Amino acid sequence: MSPREERPSSEGTALISARGLKKSYGSTEALRGVSLDLRAGEVLAVTGTSGSGKSTLLHCLSGIVRPDEGTIAYGGELLGRLPENRLGELRRSDFGVVFQFGQLIPELTALDNVALPLLLAGVHRAPAHQRAGEWLERFGVRGQASLRPGAMSGGQGQRVALARALVTGPKVVFADEPTGALDTLAGEQVMTALVHTARESATAVLLITHDAQIAAYADRELGLSDGIVHSGTGAVQEVARGEG
Ligand code: ADP
Ligand code: MG
Repeated sequence: MSPREERPSSEGTALISARGLKKSYGSTEALRGVSLDLRAGEVLAVTGTSGSGKSTLLHCLSGIVRPDEGTIAYGGELLGRLPENRLGELRRSDFGVVFQFGQLIPELTALDNVALPLLLAGVHRAPAHQRAGEWLERFGVRGQASLRPGAMSGGQGQRVALARALVTGPKVVFADEPTGALDTLAGEQVMTALVHTARESATAVLLITHDAQIAAYADRELGLSDGIVHSGTGAVQEVARGEG
């Protein structure tokens, strides 16, 4: 695989366009003006040290947290203008989210956790379980299908969470450190499966990682530091100047 093959960079085709995002928690400025574009089918890595604002950025872009300032356009619609119920619908239909700390439902088996978004979308039980099983297989955790999260390792839980985020065929997947609890080999397997999915179904992936080897799987990389973009081929200013 060539992790960074050149792709056309045209701002017009951005699926998500964020401009000037700011978000504070009390006196902590988590985001201080972040702009980025995410195009259909591309894998964008967001890197940075702990506390640089990566998770806050993911929460804003995925519509979970409303930024204090700035705009996020998804498919031409401004998320900030959508009422809460429409935003919720959009998140269920178009976005898949993998949280930094998994957040699987502890009472459900791996298979039921992955099948749940399908059942909520009205898919019947048998086909939902069938598809859930296929996604567990892709991420190498089919053997854990009948285990509850408490009986799995952290890495197995992360893979189940990825399967759950992808099972509905979202347009965008937001993944917060999805390989953080995996060893190198397992991390590579998960990234290969994730990049393959992105290519195959034109799913855009925003991937948060502090691991340079994992970031190398992405098409572009954006470095965050103290709530601002400090480097990377993902910076909007660079696109505008025709670099990168
Ligand atoms: P990262 O994911 O890069 O580690 P975060 O986005 O989680 O960074 O956090 C950025 C900054 O915002 C940190 O200083 C963190 O302590 C603070 N922060 C994030 N979420 C909250 C919250 N819900 N309440 C208070 N402070 C927060
Ligand atoms: Mg984080």
